[in-house]
Amino acid sequence: KAKNQGRGRVETYRDGMMEEAAERQFFEEELIHAVERGQLELYYQPLFALPGRRLKGFEALIRWNHPDRGLISPADFIPIAEACGAIERIGAWIIDEACRQVGNWPRDLYVSINVSPIQMRSPAILTQIHQALESYGLSPRQVEIEITETAMVDNSEQIAATLAGFRALGIRVAIDDFGTGYSSLAHLREFKVDRIKIDRSFVGTVGHDASADAVVRAVMGIARELSIETTAEGIETEQQLEALVKLGCGTAQGYLLGRPMTSERAGHLLEAAPSNILAFRLEANSGT
Ligand code: C2E
Ligand code: MG
Ligand code: MG
Ligand code: MG
Repeated sequence: KAKNQGRGRVETYRDGMMEEAAERQFFEEELIHAVERGQLELYYQPLFALPGRRLKGFEALIRWNHPDRGLISPADFIPIAEACGAIERIGAWIIDEACRQVGNWPRDLYVSINVSPIQMRSPAILTQIHQALESYGLSPRQVEIEITETAMVDNSEQIAATLAGFRALGIRVAIDDFGTGYSSLAHLREFKVDRIKIDRSFVGTVGHDASADAVVRAVMGIARELSIETTAEGIETEQQLEALVKLGCGTAQGYLLGRPMTSERAGHLLEAAPSNILAFRLEANSGT
């Protein structure tokens, strides 16, 4: 197509590519320095036990406070961090920061930390977690790790070793976005995990669509048989929540119950309503 539009057209196209490459390199360099520049921030989204909606903990979700571009979502920079190697430094920072925060909360709450497949390939993550538990005087029950199915696909020996390391530390492991990767069921057999997080794409139609309900019911059944806990992510309506309660889901997460919020806001809510979860829920909703 570019050929038909003449030589000038092609050159413009090529210049555009070079600009893009240069911009990407600039972005990578900024990303590598984001940690020491204090530009990264963890937000916390509440997790509630069903059916009573008692607060159980928070999932830590990273944001990049970019000086020019504003708040950048993890979907826009985590893949770049993984590609350019910055994920190791960023991942270590996330573990330390999330563990520091959970140390400020009531001891029966946990923090759930998302981990990149790249972090799972190295034993460094075990040292980082062990050190964070020691530094902040945490029980391993206060920390959970979320890995996606993609992490389990390759290097399965290294992944298995890291998972065994978590187990030895007493750290629970969840499979995130369950059902969206390849051979989800094979992973359940191969790796012992503590929790399945049912992906938002199934939750979105639950209670509306008989086949979505059937899939979720089947996942719940397998989880029950294997003594694996379940969390449904992305709950946005009371109808979805009700359907999930009926299907036997153990933990709920979603905008309906609380959006991701700053640690400051989570701290204020915990101080204001440590036991009054309904109030917490209402306030959590008026946040970001
Ligand atoms: P995830 O781990 O599956 O996290 C859930 C995502 O769904 C979050 O997006 C959350 O804000 C969003 N969400 C929660 N409830 C609802 C809802 O009711 N409706 C809708 N539409 N969305 C909801 P976020 O924070 O943009 O994170 C996106 C993904 O980026 C995460 O998906 C995770 O894979 C990755 N990520 C986030 N934080 C980290 C991190 O610290 N480390 C790593 N390696 N990855 C991270
Ligand atoms: Mg997650
Ligand atoms: Mg998820
Ligand atoms: Mg998801």
